[in-house]
Amino acid sequence: MKLLCGTAKGIINPPEDVGDTYLAGYLTMMAPKIKGVHDSLYARVIVLSDGKTKVVLVSVELIGLLADFIDKIKDRLSAHGFPYKNVYVFSTHTHAGPDTMGLWGPIIGKSGINKKYMYFLLDTIVRLVLGAEKELVEVELYFTKSELLDLIENYRARGSLNGNLKVLKFLSNDKLIASLWSYSAQPEITTRENTSLSGDYPGLVSTMIEQEYGGISLFALGLCGAQSPIYCEEGYEKMEDFADQIFSKITSIFQDHKKLNISPIEIRFRKVKLKLENPDFQLLYTLGILDREYEHQTIESSVSKIRIGELDLIHIPGEPFPDLIADIVNQQEKTETICFSNSNDSLGYFIPLNQWSLKPQVWIDDIENGEFIGHETESIGVEAGQVIRSTIRELFLYKTVLAIGSHADDLTIWAGGTLTKLSSEGNSLICVRITDDYADCVGLTKEKGIKRNRKETEKAYKALGAQQVIHMDYPTDSLYTADYHELRGKLVRLMRKYKPDLVVSFDLNGTDEENMDHITTARAVNEACWQSSFDLFYTEHFDEGLEIHAVGERYLFARNPTVLNHFVDISEYIDNKINAINHQKTVMENWFHQNKLLARANNLYVELLEEDVPNAIRVTLLVKLVYGEVGEKYGVKYAEEFNKIDAGMLKDLAED
Ligand SMILES: [Zn+2]
Repeated sequence: MKLLCGTAKGIINPPEDVGDTYLAGYLTMMAPKIKGVHDSLYARVIVLSDGKTKVVLVSVELIGLLADFIDKIKDRLSAHGFPYKNVYVFSTHTHAGPDTMGLWGPIIGKSGINKKYMYFLLDTIVRLVLGAEKELVEVELYFTKSELLDLIENYRARGSLNGNLKVLKFLSNDKLIASLWSYSAQPEITTRENTSLSGDYPGLVSTMIEQEYGGISLFALGLCGAQSPIYCEEGYEKMEDFADQIFSKITSIFQDHKKLNISPIEIRFRKVKLKLENPDFQLLYTLGILDREYEHQTIESSVSKIRIGELDLIHIPGEPFPDLIADIVNQQEKTETICFSNSNDSLGYFIPLNQWSLKPQVWIDDIENGEFIGHETESIGVEAGQVIRSTIRELFLYKTVLAIGSHADDLTIWAGGTLTKLSSEGNSLICVRITDDYADCVGLTKEKGIKRNRKETEKAYKALGAQQVIHMDYPTDSLYTADYHELRGKLVRLMRKYKPDLVVSFDLNGTDEENMDHITTARAVNEACWQSSFDLFYTEHFDEGLEIHAVGERYLFARNPTVLNHFVDISEYIDNKINAINHQKTVMENWFHQNKLLARANNLYVELLEEDVPNAIRVTLLVKLVYGEVGEKYGVKYAEEFNKIDAGMLKDLAED
């Protein structure tokens, strides 16, 4: 496979014709007007493509951007084939740029945002992304890292320092196209008296890398919460000194890189709901000074991970304290990780539970024993950190999914979107078809029916992303005559062989099911899920070297479900689902034929069935209708829903 990379870079200093802009970073609600430029602010763009998936990384030298503004960028880019979850805009958090959040107006109660500037910014970023996409060339990934502890202080937990300095390189025929470097210190070396624009140390270092090595150089503010430069607010001279020291460290490790293996781009995108506990923030949102939607004291944001082979890029919508997730990141042995603070949102500090030192309702800056403990006033609340942590942990969990249907179309129709989503997020998917579907055809011989359905199912399940397809070849629509003990034993064997974390199949809780294959499948699969963990059932498997296995979760579907407690947003995967079903031409032809007979038997004229409409169009219309209605229930475009069975009450007993 190939990885392609395109780049672009543009100045985002406020143009003169936008009028007054205010300097963001220090003096909330009493910020000075911007006068002059110390060093220009840049937006830098990397577009990556594996030929199928493209992803955008945009680094902006700004204090922060809220999700509502970034959504406007995403809206514009979606018209150019960039899905919502594939766009990442992250701020370097310089304390010497224009107010792009609203907190740095000239007086109390007035937002510091200049709307003309924001339109300029939106246009510039979109233009740069589209330009970068035109420059795609094949690249190889290289990675190098070191520690630089002497330059940072942690005022909260002294001794707990994260000095990771990481550099990712994109090389095309040995030429550096782009680099992405990461360090965890708040860019706050400029002073409170400063009125000039500056990218602070990240801007200086990026420019030095570009001048020395070529390409463009993006900065990712790592796990910066509570970590400040030792020259905090000491001014430009110290800032240059600080940048020199970082650059010289980068120079010392720059060529000492290792090549990273690549794989298709995998994106895990999670929406998170964060409780807005901080009354100051509530007020700012209510007044519209922070221009961002929120409902019922809850802010919706997102946490994501992009994986390309041996590389993981973690996007966090605020500034996490290092201790919040450093242990999760450090546990990863197969990948190199880079964390991005203030990516796709800027919600303030995310503080670990055990470092939350103010009582929840006391929101005051304070100095206690000489240690600053006031980060809580710039955090949305104590719960948010926990949600961010558990979401990031989930982003690193890779599952084996065993999906089991009676017939060719059971999995594609009831769970096709969910299975595609799971496989596209890097989970391994194994699809099982219990019967041979010999009768699921019209006007063919039994042998031809079996052959065609096998071939088409193979294609359909591969389209869902299945790594393996298993046909159990029981004669169709007569599972009730099969030896139940033997059938269940075969399923137990599959559980023990593939060790699924998640099983997707039929639910016994469905009603009015007139297909006995579905009922038998539901019964046998669900029983097999727990019998596989008993050491006295089907002991012959142990002679083959298999071991007992307990299944973690089950997503169960039914024709007329009575228990629905879980939905999966399949909006991004609806076309994959339709495509997979359309591979099953023989089954679908029979399905539409049967429905036409049913309609006629009821003296109904159904245009979609009677007229000469291609089955592929029938499938598209019906799938969008049915799963659009399910989506509407949950406030998304398309969804599938399940009876999810997991550890149940054991979860309440479990600890983080
Ligand atoms: Zn079926």
